[in-house]
Formats: sequence, structure tokens, C-alpha cells
Amino acid sequence: MAHYKVFINKKLCKGCGICIEICPRNALRFNGINPETGYRNPEQVGECIGCRQCMWYCPDQAVVVVGEQ
Ligand code: SF4
Ligand code: SF4
Repeated sequence: MAHYKVFINKKLCKGCGICIEICPRNALRFNGINPETGYRNPEQVGECIGCRQCMWYCPDQAVVVVGEQ
């Protein structure tokens, strides 16, 4: 089983929540307010299957998914 890790660039994220809604595994959720930007930032809380939909649909290019195939 491949392991994937999701990184959110907190300087770019605007807290829209698209990545959270689109994830088929509910692997992301908001984790508080970023004091530097005032936006909510997602964090990875569940298993990621590496589909990269969160990365493609993020309007601010704030998501990077890394892992082995
Ligand atoms: S790559 Fe797919 S499974 Fe992983 S967090 Fe993003 S949307 Fe969810
Ligand atoms: S889709 Fe992008 S901008 Fe929106 S909450 Fe997710 S990481 Fe942040």
C-alpha cells in the first residue's frame, strides 16, 4: 500500500475548503486559524490515496501531494 502525505502551503491557502470537500477519503479537515493570514488551513487527518484532486482543484496552488506509487 502506497503512502501519501499532503502538504498545505499556509502562505497561499485562502481557506476556501474545496480540497476538504473534494477529497474522496475525507482525509483533510480545517485546523484552526492561521494568525498570519487570518484564513483557516486544512491539515491531513486521514489516509490519502494519492488521487491528487485536492491539488488540482485548489484555486491557489497551495496543495502538494507526495508519495510512492
Ligand atoms: S490526494 Fe486525494 S485522497 Fe489524498 S488528500 Fe487529496 S483528495 Fe484526498
Ligand atoms: S483548496 Fe487550497 S485554498 Fe482552498 S482550503 Fe484547500 S488548500 Fe486552502
